Formats: sequence, structure tokens, C-alpha cells
Amino acid sequence: MTVRVRIAPSPTGDPHVGTAYIALFNYAFARKNGGQFILRIEDTDRTRSTPESEEAILRALKWVGLEWDEGPDIGGPCGPYRQSERAHLYREHAERLVEKGEAYRCFCTSERLAELRKAQLAAKGQLGYDGHCRDLDPAESARRAQSGEPFVIRLRMPREGECLLRDRHRGEIRFQNAGVDDQVLLKTDGYPTYHLANVVDDHLMGITHVIRAEEWISSSPKHLRLYEAFGWQAPEFIHMPLLRNRDKTKISKRKNPVSLDYYRDAGILPEALRNFLALMGWSIGPDREKFTLAEMVAAFDIDRVSIGEPVFDLVKLMDLNGQYIRELSDEALVDRLLDWRFSRAALEQLAPLLRERMKTLCDFMVRGDFFFTGDIDYRGLAQDMISKGRSARETAAILQEYVEKLDEPWRDARRVPFEDEALDAFSRAFAEERGWKIKELFSAVRTAVTGKVATPPLFSTMRVLGREMTRKRLRDAVAALKSLPVS
Ligand code: GLU
Repeated sequence: MTVRVRIAPSPTGDPHVGTAYIALFNYAFARKNGGQFILRIEDTDRTRSTPESEEAILRALKWVGLEWDEGPDIGGPCGPYRQSERAHLYREHAERLVEKGEAYRCFCTSERLAELRKAQLAAKGQLGYDGHCRDLDPAESARRAQSGEPFVIRLRMPREGECLLRDRHRGEIRFQNAGVDDQVLLKTDGYPTYHLANVVDDHLMGITHVIRAEEWISSSPKHLRLYEAFGWQAPEFIHMPLLRNRDKTKISKRKNPVSLDYYRDAGILPEALRNFLALMGWSIGPDREKFTLAEMVAAFDIDRVSIGEPVFDLVKLMDLNGQYIRELSDEALVDRLLDWRFSRAALEQLAPLLRERMKTLCDFMVRGDFFFTGDIDYRGLAQDMISKGRSARETAAILQEYVEKLDEPWRDARRVPFEDEALDAFSRAFAEERGWKIKELFSAVRTAVTGKVATPPLFSTMRVLGREMTRKRLRDAVAALKSLPVS
């Protein structure tokens, strides 16, 4: 059997560090076993998926150095690799299940479902579909569909018995079928839900092992049921542990930067990030932390993956990164620097911002140091962020709210474009709405983002720093303000 594995990111946001983590383990497993590693884009959520996000994911994964053998950009024998281009396949498959009686059309209106949910909540009973259309006469169901009545297709889950998931690391996990909803497989618009598209594609793409994050364990009963309903053999499942913040909660942008772009901008080398992510679930041997991707592949044994709760510790990442940097030859280090912030294109972005404040060429670095530093040390800067008459708490709260707004999801119309005018207009309106003087807000933001009170135009600075670095600094500033003793 040729090993075929995949990652299947949904292009609904920033390129997530968790995607690179799962990709790394799939990649190592495929390479070790002479198999293929596939990238599939799961963009069936039409309201949240964006082409920009897909592009960012591909770019970021390439930066991390995890190249795929088949994917939307390079094609392959099982394409297309973008689910939005495979819609007809899911429709056909859903229809096939209806014919077999394994799925059924459901004509319930959204009003009825809302009423049902309300009643279930009030009765504090089990939530989920009540099976209203489950036993409709098939001829009647076909007639209603023919007449144009809108419907979804639902999976007919057994009402009793249990479903057994055999996870390679976690052993047997049992689920009571009665607790699993009759999942919608195909929506009224003819688009599939994640569950149907995921299973159909894993099958059609010949996926042998599904190595994915632990958070998908709860979807497994539906997936296993689908394999059974189609009469297909399910792949082997391996659920990787979630990356955690220090407090053991699931990694989140509120506590750790999660975008791969941040790590690139903060001067992390991709090989160090890969090594660090590998340590989140595997080790090459006792007392050895540093290893290359090739070494990982050569020594990789999926059965030695640990499912403990890996803590995404930035301090450790920085230490490892330092080791990698020190090992580069001078020439290689210069190449990295040129690629990072010293390329002609990067310097050309800075020149118009810094030139007005320069007396000598030296001032380029002196006046623009914050373009090159990663994180900022906020000790001693609190007074520069807090305007007269405002408290540290108030300032922390307003900056927090400000950064939340900059975090709006990609598809959200409220997402502020990271461009000078848009940032300016947004910031002014935001200050006004909150009853803050523009000057007060701008100086808090300026110090938070640059560590300085005088800088080139604030919004051009933010644009050049990029959304990720700007957000991270704002969040760090909020944390610094919150940690001040209340006066
Ligand atoms: N589209 C899912 C995601 O965004 C894929 C989960 C899976 O690997 O099955 O992660």
C-alpha cells in the first residue's frame, strides 16, 4: 500500500501555525514511507472562504518548507484539489446515499428548525434534529424535490448502538450513536458540508492515513458512518494533540501569535520553526532537541508520536532559532537577512517613511529601529501610552478593543484593510465612537506599535510593519499595561 496523506486547510483566515504543525507530521510520515503528501483546500464554506486566505496558506506553507506532491497549484492525478471545484461530486455522492436509504431529504424550514432548537433549549433536552423528515415516503420525498421545494440531505445515523473509532495512538474511542445528530451532508444551495466533502475526497484521493488535529475526534462518528454507508474502507486515523498556550488552553491569537506570517516577520528561520513544531509531538532521541527536517524524516516513526499536551513556548522557539542562526555561515546569514528585511523592495518601502527624519544615513537605523526589532520591551513606556487623565486600565481596554477590530475575520466587511487611508479613517472613527481624543488614541497606538513617541506617519508605519506584527505588539502593550499596579 502506498501511503497517501493530506492536509485539508479551510481558507478562512490567516495561515495558522497549527496547519504547519499538522502538515509537518503528514509530510514526515509520507516521506518516511515513500508516499505522497497532498494539499487539499476545503473551501466549501462559501461565506468564510477567501482566495486571499488560500493564497496566504500556500505561500506560508512554502515558506515553512513543506512542499506537497499534489495540490491546487500543481495539480495531480486526483484533482481538482479545491473543493469548490468538485461540487458535482458531492451532489452525486449525496444522491447515491439517498438512493441507498443511508441519507434522506429533509424539507424542514429554517423557521421550524429555529423553533425546535428553542423548545429543546427550554426543555434542557438533547439538541439536534428531531428526525421529522427521516421517515418520509421516498416517492413523496422525490416528488417534493422534483417540484422545486428546497431541501437538505441528512445522514441517517443509527439510533442505537455505538460507533468505534480506532485511533492509532489513542486506542478505541466509543461513541453512542444516539448522541450523534443526523448530520446535514448537502445544503439547500447544493454545497456539501465539511463532513461529506472531507470523506468523499479522502476516499477519491486514496488517502490511507488521516493525520489531523485532536479537535476533529468528535466528527469521527459521522465520518465512520459515511464510510460505512458508502461501503468504503475508512483510512487509519491519527489525531495529533492540540498546541496549547502556557495555561494549557488551545492555542489562540489572544495569547500567542498564530499566524505563520508573524513568525516570518519576527525573524524566525523556517527550519527552526519546523524543528520546534516537530518537538510538539515527537523527539528524535533523549537529550536531543535540534534536528533537521531530513533527520526527522529519516528517523520518523509515527508510533512514537506523543499525544501529551504540547505547550507552544515562544521562549523555547527563540532559543532554538538562535542556535540555528549561530550555525549559519556568514554568507548564509547575509542571504537570510537580505531575504528578510534588507531586500531592495523592503528598503524601498522604508525609504519614504524615514527620509524626512534623517540627517545622516545612520539615522535610517536609528529612526527606524522598530522596523527591525521583533517584540518591544514596554518597561518604562507606560507613561507614553497613557494620556493625561486616563488610567492604565482604560488605555489597556481601548487598545484591546482596537486590536480586536483589526482582527476581524477575512470575509468580514468590517475587516480594516491594512492601508494608510483605511487605517486612518477607521482609527479616527473608532476614537470618536469611544469618546477618545484622536491624539490620545493615536499616541497610545503609536507607542504600542513602535515603542517610540515620534515616528514616521503612524498608519504607513503600521502598513509596513504588517498586520501580524502590529497586532502582536498591540496585544503585548495591552498585557504590559494590565500588569501595572493599579494606582
Ligand atoms: N478542513 C478541516 C480543517 O480546516 C480539515 C480537517 C481534517 O483534516 O479532516 O482543518
